[in-house]
Amino acid sequence: MDRRLPATPAGTRDLVVVGAGIIGLAVAWRALEAGLSVTVLDPDPGDGSTRAAAGMIAPATEAEFTEDTALHLHLTGASRWLSFAADLEAASGLGVGLRESGTLTLAYDGTDAALLRRILALHTRHAVTSERLAISEARRREPLLGQRLTEAAWVPGDHAVDPRATHTALWRAVDAHPHGAVVPRAVVRLDVDAGRVVGAVDETRHLHRAGATVVAAGWASASLLADLPGVAVPVRPVKGQTLRLQADPELAPRHVVRGLVQGRPVYVVSRAPATEGPWKGHCELVIGATTEENPDDRRATAGGVFALLRDARVLLPAIDEATLVEATPRARPSTPDNVPLLGPTHVPGLHLATGHHRNGILLAPLTADVVVAGLTGSWFDVDVPSADPAAMLAALRATDPRRFSPTDPTTEGAP
Ligand SMILES: Cc1cc2nc3c(=O)[nH]c(=O)nc-3n(C[C@H](O)[C@H](O)[C@H](O)COP(=O)(O)OP(=O)(O)OC[C@H]3O[C@@H](n4cnc5c(N)ncnc54)[C@H](O)[C@@H]3O)c2cc1C
Repeated sequence: MDRRLPATPAGTRDLVVVGAGIIGLAVAWRALEAGLSVTVLDPDPGDGSTRAAAGMIAPATEAEFTEDTALHLHLTGASRWLSFAADLEAASGLGVGLRESGTLTLAYDGTDAALLRRILALHTRHAVTSERLAISEARRREPLLGQRLTEAAWVPGDHAVDPRATHTALWRAVDAHPHGAVVPRAVVRLDVDAGRVVGAVDETRHLHRAGATVVAAGWASASLLADLPGVAVPVRPVKGQTLRLQADPELAPRHVVRGLVQGRPVYVVSRAPATEGPWKGHCELVIGATTEENPDDRRATAGGVFALLRDARVLLPAIDEATLVEATPRARPSTPDNVPLLGPTHVPGLHLATGHHRNGILLAPLTADVVVAGLTGSWFDVDVPSADPAAMLAALRATDPRRFSPTDPTTEGAP
C-alpha cells in the first residue's frame, strides 16, 4: 500500500495534526521544514502532559530492568536533542533551556545502594556510560547534597531541557511559518471517505481536510479513535505530579539530582536563573514525579505533594528555603509496553504519534523525524547514530503503531 501523501487539492492542507503538546508540535514543525503545509488543532496547546514534565533527557537513569527496547529507543532519542535544540532556537529565536549538566544519582539506605549498583550493572550491560562515586566525591561536585546519603553514581550523558520553553518555541516556529497554523479548537472526530482518513472535524463542525492526519492527542488519542475500524490505540492515562519551586541560585543544584529514598525514586531538575518576569534572578526547581494508575483528574493530592517534598529534601535539604509556586498534576499517555506508537496505521491517511509515557520530552525530536519519514514515504529511513545499530533499528521498529491492531500483518494468516 502506498502510504505517501496524495496530491492535495487547492484549499486542502498536506497535513492536519490533532494535539499541540510537545509531540504534535514537534511533528508539525519538522513536517513544515520538509515542505508540507500543516494545520495543528488543540483547544489548550501545551496544557497536557507536556505542562507537568520536568524535562529530563535521561535514557540511562530512566532505564527499567525489563525494558531493553525502550532503553535503546531512548538512547537514540537523546542523541537527537542537541541538533534539534539548535535548529529550533534558530527557527524560533527562543531558547529551549537545554542544560548538558549530567546527572548525579544518590542512594539513601543500604537497600537503595544495592539497587543503585544493579542499575549501574544494567548500564554496563548496555554500554551506557556511568560510574560509581564515593559520597564525598559526589558532595564535592554538588555541595548541597544531604548528609544522610550513602552512595552515589555519576551519569554524564543524562541531561535536561525546559519543556515549557521548548513548547513555546515550537508553537512560535509553527505559527510563524507561512504554511503552518495552530488553531485553538478541539477535534471531535476524524472524517473518513472511502476508507481513507481525509481530515479532522473540529468542535464547530468545520472539516479541516488534509492529505494525511497525525493524531498526537496524548492519552485522549484512544477515545478519539475508538470507533475507527482497523486501528487499535491502547493508550491509557498514567497520572503524575510535579512540583515547581523558585530558589536563589546558591540553593539550586548544578546537576540533575536523582535519588532512591527507601525504594522511592525522586528527582530535582534545576533551570538557569530567569532573565525576566516575577522570578527574575531565581532558578526554577522541578521535583518529580509520582506515577499513579489514575485518570487525568488534575488534582494535586496532599499525599503526592508531601511525598515528593519529603524525599527531595533528603537529597537537597536546602529546598526548605525555596518558594513552592506550583503543583502540576497531569496524565502521561502510556501504552501496554511503554513504547510509543509512531507512524502510519493500517488506515490510509492516518498516522499516530502518541504513547510516550515517561519519556515524551526525550523522544520528541526522534518522534518528529520518524513520523515525518512515514508521511513522506521513507518509513524508518532515519539516520541511526549508535554503537549498536541493530538494537537501535529493532527499537525503532518496535514503535510500529500497527502492533496492537486486529489486522496486524505479522499475525495475519497465523493459525
Ligand atoms: C509528572 C510528569 C513528569 C514528566 N517528566 C518527563 C521528563 O522529565 N522527561 C520526559 O521525557 N518526559 C516526561 N514526562 C512525559 C511527557 O510529559 C509526555 O510523554 C509528553 O508530554 C507527551 O506529549 P504529548 O504531546 O504526546 O501529550 P500532551 O502533552 O498530553 O499533549 C496532548 C495534547 O492533545 C490535546 N488534545 C487532546 N484531545 C484533543 C482533541 N480531541 N482535539 C485536539 N487536541 C486534543 C491536549 O489538549 C494536549 O495539548 C512527564 C510526564 C508527567 C505527567
